[in-house]
Amino acid sequence: MEEVRKEEVEDNTDIIMEGALIARDRVGVQDFVLLDSHTSEAAFLNNLRKRYQENLIYTYIGTLLVSVNPYKELDIYTVTQMQLYRGVNFFELPPHLYAIADNAYRVMCSEYNNHFILISGESGAGKTEASKKILQYYAVTCPTTEQLQVVRDRLLLSNPVLEAFGNAKTLRNDNSSRFGKYMDIQFDFKGAPVGGHILSYLIEKSRVVHQNHGERNFHIFYQLLEGGEKDLLCWLGLERNPQKYAYLIQGRCAKVFSINDKNDWKIVRKAFSIIDFTEKDLELLGVHLSILQESLTHRKIEARSEEVLSPLNVDLAFYARDAVAKAIYGRTFTWLVNKINGSLANKDSTRKTVIGLLDIYGFEVLDTNSFEQFCINYCNEKLQQLLIEMTLKAEQEEYEMEGIEWEPIPYFNNKIICDLVEQKHKGIISILDEECLRPGEATDLSFLEKLEEKVGDHAHFVTRKLADQKTRKSIDWVDFRLLHYAGEVTYCAVGFLEKNNDLLYRNLKEVLCNSKNGIIRECFLLSELDSRRRPETVATQFKNSLMSLIEILMSKEPSYIRCIKPNENKEPGKFDDCLIRHQVKYLGLMEHLRVRRAGFAYRRKYEHFLQRYKSLCPATWPHWHGPAAEGVERLIKHIGYKPEEYKLGRTKIFIRFPKTLFATEDAFEI
Ligand code: ATP
Ligand code: MG
Repeated sequence: MEEVRKEEVEDNTDIIMEGALIARDRVGVQDFVLLDSHTSEAAFLNNLRKRYQENLIYTYIGTLLVSVNPYKELDIYTVTQMQLYRGVNFFELPPHLYAIADNAYRVMCSEYNNHFILISGESGAGKTEASKKILQYYAVTCPTTEQLQVVRDRLLLSNPVLEAFGNAKTLRNDNSSRFGKYMDIQFDFKGAPVGGHILSYLIEKSRVVHQNHGERNFHIFYQLLEGGEKDLLCWLGLERNPQKYAYLIQGRCAKVFSINDKNDWKIVRKAFSIIDFTEKDLELLGVHLSILQESLTHRKIEARSEEVLSPLNVDLAFYARDAVAKAIYGRTFTWLVNKINGSLANKDSTRKTVIGLLDIYGFEVLDTNSFEQFCINYCNEKLQQLLIEMTLKAEQEEYEMEGIEWEPIPYFNNKIICDLVEQKHKGIISILDEECLRPGEATDLSFLEKLEEKVGDHAHFVTRKLADQKTRKSIDWVDFRLLHYAGEVTYCAVGFLEKNNDLLYRNLKEVLCNSKNGIIRECFLLSELDSRRRPETVATQFKNSLMSLIEILMSKEPSYIRCIKPNENKEPGKFDDCLIRHQVKYLGLMEHLRVRRAGFAYRRKYEHFLQRYKSLCPATWPHWHGPAAEGVERLIKHIGYKPEEYKLGRTKIFIRFPKTLFATEDAFEI
């Protein structure tokens, strides 16, 4: 099989080389490390803008890919393009998602190790599109058999199902993922995709009961009403008109121009059947939805809550109703992910390698930042730390492997901020949890007081006093402010305790545990009622799941894609400098560039360097028959590289400044 693969790759090379000549772009620099002034944000933005205006949405920082959402269909995701990138060396072709995907895959196959591709960026930047395109790339280019087609289809179709239940229209994105997603694609020793596993993070349950103006509930509700078969709706006791359901129309935009709910319902139905949902499950889902829908009309809700919680006043009854809806939705979503995992599971025990795709919310700063933003930004702190540590480590290892002296690189280590949030006893999450243990006594304000008392003098916690003196921007009495690696964020503490506790009244839980509906019973286990243990708080659960995610990632080889949203209006071609400058900062791109550029701007294998520039030296042209390293030495001597401009490693040449390389390129062009 290896033989076949090798042959196939070689066969491709001709097309690839031809393609490379056609596709090689010359707008700005393809890799930011080649910018003359690598510390200048203006130069960075100029390069990004220049390329974006030519529809070149991808640019590298070394092996990290920066992507700017084009907001229009580009002709760069065709099967021909996929074949172009397949099996080709990373820097041979213009920057592309496929180059990242292919590189991870190629290294995985040859070194038999595990990889992950971390895709981050703010809402609407193109993370989910990128992760879907990578999955498609593997589906099209990896070897497969008839038997494995099912797995391939399931992997692909898990997306529309999860998107139906986990995505919603928001002001910033018509198809916004309201959960974090990590998906492992498992490959066998032949490099064929044979299974998968999905982990989900923090589904935004509050959307089930409340949507801001211009936003919708999760897609699935509208799909069901719009596309659901007549019999099904009748059986569920539902009316087609979403206006009948208070939970669906709070944002006053049940219909969205860019979304075809009817069609999407068909896709989801088809996906259900391929992902191994039995017809019975589908009924069951219907029953689940009907229960959910049942609690959508006021009369029924009140009747329901009176039945169960008769002593509650109206406000508390509403609160209880919302809590039930949120709990059902959150747990059903987890059930759904487990169900999909069951269908993607590969049961044979032969060793597999994996490529993990992480599509996770980027750093978020809204007008009002709440508990959710606190969790999201903490997650980004952790991932930034991972990125910096892994990049530094990779740099250091490469230098060591190549026998080049390692020069320490100064950089900002944001561990101090992670500690501020997560440290046991002293961290913000611990302080919040402690307050949650004092029901009746503690309030969001007492939590704020505790924060001031316990972490008030931390360098990244802005105390009220300091805020007034230094920034002259006082902090509102319900707010606290943190200095994240990406900048200052003010959080409104209102609701922190309640969201962290996420309590469901015991009698409501009892009702759900005893439900006739199988899925609900699976989601709310009776054993939960007996347990004397306090359930973990939301922040602690999130912290723990992040810790294990980081552990999963640390054991794998990394690739990174940073997505940028070019403007707030979803408009093609519009490059909003101010908005993008912010993201360059939030995504830590300048910091990454600094780390990547601290030593050498450019490095290439001797063979590749020689192949490209051999025509510049009579000794190496047209053929050099000795070892490539010696050929390169002769070549650079001939063109006059100065000793401080380069270093020769075991397998690669390292060039310190971009200008040296550009001069060589210019000579080569003449
Ligand atoms: P969120 O955090 O809200 O989930 P996201 O980063 O996942 O946002 P996407 O849903 O991937 O954002 O992208 C938003 C929209 O931008 C897409 O629905 C699509 O219209 C457009 N888009 C993104 N990437 C591309 C691309 N490569 N080509 C064309 N359009 C794109
Ligand atoms: Mg998304």
